Formats: sequence, C-alpha cells, structure tokens
Amino acid sequence: MKYISTRGQAPELSFEDTMLTGLARDGGLYVPAEIPTLSHDDIAALAGLPYEEIAFRVMRPFVGDSFSDDEFAEIIAKAYAGFGHDARAPLKQLNEGHFLLELFHGPTLAFKDFAMQLIGQLFQVALKRRGERVTIVGATSGDTGSAAIEAFRGLDAVDVFILYPHGRVSEVQRRQMTTPQEPNVHALAMDGDFDACQARLKDMFNDFAFRDDVRLAGVNSINWARVLAQVVYYFSAATSLGAPHREVSFTVPTGNFGDIFAGYIAKRMGLPIDRLVVATNQNDILHRCLSGQGYRKGDTIPSISPSMDIQVSSNFERALFDAYGRDGGAVAQLMDELKTQGGFDVSQGAMQALRETYASGRVSEDETRAAIAHWAKASGELLCPHSAIGVDVGEAMRGSAAGPMITLATAHPAKFPAAVQDASGIHPPLPPRMADLYERPERVTRIANDLATLEDHIRKNIRT
Ligand SMILES: *Cc1c(COP(=O)(O)O)cnc(C)c1O
Repeated sequence: MKYISTRGQAPELSFEDTMLTGLARDGGLYVPAEIPTLSHDDIAALAGLPYEEIAFRVMRPFVGDSFSDDEFAEIIAKAYAGFGHDARAPLKQLNEGHFLLELFHGPTLAFKDFAMQLIGQLFQVALKRRGERVTIVGATSGDTGSAAIEAFRGLDAVDVFILYPHGRVSEVQRRQMTTPQEPNVHALAMDGDFDACQARLKDMFNDFAFRDDVRLAGVNSINWARVLAQVVYYFSAATSLGAPHREVSFTVPTGNFGDIFAGYIAKRMGLPIDRLVVATNQNDILHRCLSGQGYRKGDTIPSISPSMDIQVSSNFERALFDAYGRDGGAVAQLMDELKTQGGFDVSQGAMQALRETYASGRVSEDETRAAIAHWAKASGELLCPHSAIGVDVGEAMRGSAAGPMITLATAHPAKFPAAVQDASGIHPPLPPRMADLYERPERVTRIANDLATLEDHIRKNIRT
C-alpha cells in the first residue's frame, strides 16, 4: 500500500512512513494511492463482531507490510483497552430513524481518543523497531491536544508539545493537557486563535532544517493514521443498523474535516452510505462552500463548541483532491490562492462531485443551546454543544437522506460543563475515573505567536 500527496510533488511513502511524517514535504496531505474495497459479504460479516475485530478487518488493507497481523492486532487491543465502555462506540436511539453514535468513552472523553490511542501504540512499536525517537508537535482547538498528551505520556521515544489558543479552550480541556506530569509532555498556551496555532505548526513543518533537526512528527488530524482509525466506527455503526443490506446516512459535527472524511473513505471502501452531512457552528466556511459560495476564510468567532471554531479545514484538501480527479497541480494552485487571496472558487465539476457525497447545515449559538435543552427533555440525552449541532442538523436532514440517520456524538457533555448547564439547567458530572481533575496541579508555558520563539523552546526542552 503506497501513499501519495494531494499536491503531487512529494515522494510516495509506505503506511509507516506516512504516519511518522504527517504533512508531506510539498505541503500536501498523504492519501492512499488506491482505496481498498471490502465486498458485500466482507461487510455483512462485520455485524456483531467486537469493535477490535472490526477495526482489524477494516484497517488491515491500508497498513500493508508496515506491521504484521499479530503486531497490528496487539496494537489495536492496547489502544482501546482503556475505554470506559465495552462496545467502545455504542449506538443509542434518539428518535425514530435517528441514532447517536457515542464516541466519548475514551480517556479524554472525545472521539479523538479513537485515533490518538491507536497512533500512540503504532508510534511506539514502529520507533522501537527502528531504534529512533521523534518530537511530536500538535496544534489543538482543545480535544486533539488532550488526546495526544494522554496517548503519548511516558513513552520514552517521543517528546510531545501541544500548542493551544490561550484562553480559548474549556477548563476541562485545558486541565487534561496541563495536569499530566510526565516530563515528555508539554502544554504550550499560545497567543492567538486555533488557526494561528495551526499556521505556526505548518511553518515548523515547512522549516526543513528544524524539522530534520528535532525529527518532527505530526499527529494532527492531517495524519493519515488518524483518519484511518476513524473509518472503523462508520462500519461498526452502519453494520449494526443493517448495512450492507440497507443504506445509512451520517451527520458529523465538523471542524477540520477529519472525522467526516473518514466517513467518505468508508463509503469508498464499499459501505452503503447515502449522505454524509457536515454540521458546522457559526464558523461555517464548509457550509458556505458546500452551498456554492466558494471557499473563503472569515474571522474565527469563538463559540460554545470550541473544537469546531475553525475557518480553514485542513482535511478538506483531501476531499478537493478527489473532487478534482486527483489532480495534485490543481489542488496546489487552490491552496496557493487560499494563502495569497484568502479563498478560492470550486470548479463546477468539483462542486458536483462534492455534492454527490456531502450535504451540510449550520447551527447558530442560540440554536445550539435550544437543541441541548430540547434533547435533554425529549429523550433524557445530555448532549455536548458539538454533538448538539450534529443532532440538530441530523434531525433536519433525516427525511431527505436514505436509511437511518446516525449522528456522531463527538464529546462527553462533562467536557463542556458550563455551556451544557447554561443551556439545560443540568450539571453534567465527570465520570468517576476523572473526578479529581480539578484538584490536580497544572503545568503550562504561555508562549508568543512567533515561529522562532516556538522553535527555540522546543529545541531546549527535547530530551536527547
Ligand atoms: C475535533 C472535534 C470536532 C471536529 O472534528 P474534525 O475531525 O476536526 O472535523 C468536533 N467535535 C469535537 C468534540 C471535537 O473534539
């Protein structure tokens, strides 16, 4: 299995090298050269299997020779052992024809644990075999960072630095990043918003001298291994509701387009998905783009769903690559326009390709609060603000999409207690295993939005 860049100018890599590299050297994102498919019978056989077994069968074709069957099965087993629910990704019925896929039973209470816990184990096995070490730098709007720190804490071949926008993450998110005391994990509170953090991260990857010096590796949602890990629960959810014998649709609270792109991969692998619905908050660049208004950056407006406060969705580049017939030159040109002119128009052909798969909806702050209150009353389900946005859009769309609608619940309500309590009057308690989070001491460095300062700090703090 080979991986190619969405901008067509970087070398082809194996799964392992793709995972360890993150961003391609031409600035693009790695995608599989060909997408493997599962037959109707292969998919039917997944129904009712344990999550780990589904994970093995769905991901195995993408991994190639990088890991043996036994190694890969053990990696998967370790990755999901720490989850607080035996089903890993349980499904709950919300309403007639509308289901909630609970992705918040991992160690940091958000869906990012599915990918990050797997990546932690994959990195450990690969680096140990190579006798190498890496420096992981990530940018987060909240949930990626805590998931990464949780996945890598204490691993001796890896140092981790997480940039988050100072003052723009929830207290639970911040504490999940700042309370681990292992010396190999570092939380950096950067001045600026998430897009600024993401821009500095890209700058570091494009500074090849720095990148090679510290052996920089990325685990942001651009990392292919993360997308791959997220493909699994589309299969587990769909097959438990009757796929491949009937179609299903999904609604996904979307920011960086990683989670929903995993759904697209599942569809390309043969899972009968009718609609993939992008649900956005007021930071709605994706909804505007899918509504035919071009892809144009606005200012990021802080919301009660901070993990979706994103104006440039990195993984959308992967969707564009396929929509433009895998023309890396065309994608490189669009990304150049985005950088120099703040946006671009999507060609008619590419819009048509996108609309064959994706639909979209946008939810305002007031509507988000109303949805949290409504579902607490209507079904006793306390939704986090991100999940509430998904459910609101999913409910509106389920009539026009084929099969049951499955909305992804991306975080536990206790991760955003203030917003949930404000909207519903109900305080969502943390699960017992995390009850002492507010008492643990914090460790964090406040840092300027400046490339040289960041690089200097990282060089001084990596272990050799
Ligand atoms: C990261 C995140 C999202 C957005 O996911 P993307 O893959 O970036 O689209 C939505 N909800 C929560 C709770 C998240 O942590």
